[in-house]
Amino acid sequence: MTEMNTLDSLESKDPTTGELIRRLDCTPVNALPEIFLRARSAQAKWAAIPAKKRVAHLHALQETLIHHVDDVAALISRENGKPLFEAMMNELLPSVDMVRYVAKHAPGWSKSRSIPLTLMKHRRSYLHYWPYGVVAIISPWNYPFLLPFGEIIMALAAGNAVVFKPSEVTPLVGLKIQELFDEAGFPPDILQTVIGDGQIGAAIIDQKPDKIFFTGSVPTGRKIMAAAARTLTPVNLELGGKDAMIVLADADLDYATSAALWGGFSNSGQVCASTERILVHESIAEHFVDLLKAKAAQLRQGSSAMGGNDLGSITFEKQKAIYDRHLQQARQNGAHVSGGEFSADRRFLKPAIVTGAQIESLEVYKEETFGPVVAVTTFKSVAEAVRKANDSKYGLLASVITRNLSLGEQIAKQLEVGTVTVNEVTYTAGLGETPWGGIKDSGIGRSHSEVGFYEFLQIRHIHVPRSRLFVFKSPWWFPYSPYQMAAFRQLFHLYSRSWTERIKAFPIFLWNLVQFLKNERRL
Ligand code: NAD
Repeated sequence: MTEMNTLDSLESKDPTTGELIRRLDCTPVNALPEIFLRARSAQAKWAAIPAKKRVAHLHALQETLIHHVDDVAALISRENGKPLFEAMMNELLPSVDMVRYVAKHAPGWSKSRSIPLTLMKHRRSYLHYWPYGVVAIISPWNYPFLLPFGEIIMALAAGNAVVFKPSEVTPLVGLKIQELFDEAGFPPDILQTVIGDGQIGAAIIDQKPDKIFFTGSVPTGRKIMAAAARTLTPVNLELGGKDAMIVLADADLDYATSAALWGGFSNSGQVCASTERILVHESIAEHFVDLLKAKAAQLRQGSSAMGGNDLGSITFEKQKAIYDRHLQQARQNGAHVSGGEFSADRRFLKPAIVTGAQIESLEVYKEETFGPVVAVTTFKSVAEAVRKANDSKYGLLASVITRNLSLGEQIAKQLEVGTVTVNEVTYTAGLGETPWGGIKDSGIGRSHSEVGFYEFLQIRHIHVPRSRLFVFKSPWWFPYSPYQMAAFRQLFHLYSRSWTERIKAFPIFLWNLVQFLKNERRL
């Protein structure tokens, strides 16, 4: 169990200026049992509403979000430090699209599905879906709106209640999500937001939610999975990445460098699906790096309040030590680092491009940096590019840039990741229609899409007779007898791929079956 000395309060700060936005009271641990009790009671009523009616609340939410888009974007940009454009276009637009998409499809996805049976024609089988109950959603600070919002709507549309803990770095965005759901008229307690740091997160797990949906770092993911193992609570883990971009020799250099620029530096690289490793064919590597550096130098860094910025500030103080370590180790080991200097107040980091012969053994190439830093290396053949891309403990996203689309797809099928984009980068994490998630250290399970929706539902198999007339004792029930054995023994021959063997076996099977049914009373 978790120690109980969690934070009393926390400060939401503007990372661009260091200004205090608001001090907030944290949720006390001893409030959690009551929160879960209320969630369970709200969930029972919510699940009893037909899926079609539940989505009416999502339609209302869609309108509420559209109505508040400017103030929500301003808050995201202020608390997270990202440009206003990114708050609007990379968080809120995909969120609106996701509500629309989930509202449209959730009732259909929730319907039972029949399973055709080959032998047991007299019976009917189907899958019946039902919600887990109370889902705990624990979120990070880098996409403080989009990530939890998408998961919450999926969980609720599936008939669950949600206890949501936003990151302690972006609690106001978390509270804003709660406000939007309240304003849209969702029933009380169907979504409850818990404020605090990792300790209250751990205390949420101690309350035995029915499912845990966690997005965050690998070390926290491991802790959560270990805690969930105590109660065998199912977990979804969306963790880190060290995503590779493979740039083939035929790539358009202008296109490839622009893709790398956005993939590596949007949201200041604080993206799980950020392009962190760039593998360029050796024949074009020099030109690629020169052009990428020239474009990176043109990115305008600053606060959204001033307007016209491409890159915002670094959101989370603790990340800065990782950037220092990765860049310092690179410099000490003879790598070339272009950019990578902090501003005097250490709120902004100039986009860094790391190159050099030895970089593949360095942290900047192997470990998640989660900042505006890309490491570039080269390859000679497609096979080498695939081997290098797969040589990572992470497996979230990879991209291939080429004019040869069929080769791009062939490469895609060899990459050990959850998503591969050809001639695109990063952005499918915001697509409601496509599944999102990783393998290896990048996590377990999927969010978004129909596949992600089923992560919020339990599956019950229901097996019934097709008619009252078909209710008879099954021939494999007690007592066991010689005719029964002889009849069933012939079934193996009936499975044979040889026609003659099947034809020979059938009359023997039938004769023994008739003897068995005629002569023996079932218990
Ligand atoms: P983090 O693991 O430090 O924190 C994430 C959340 O977990 C926070 O709300 C935190 O308070 C909570 N938490 C911390 N310790 C906990 C515990 N013991 N029990 C329960 N909850 C606990 O991660 P972060 O720094 O907020 O986010 C950055 C990481 O998230 C990066 O590694 C990034 O790659 C990853 N991420 C992954 C995805 C994805 O979709 N795969 C998306 C965004 C971010």
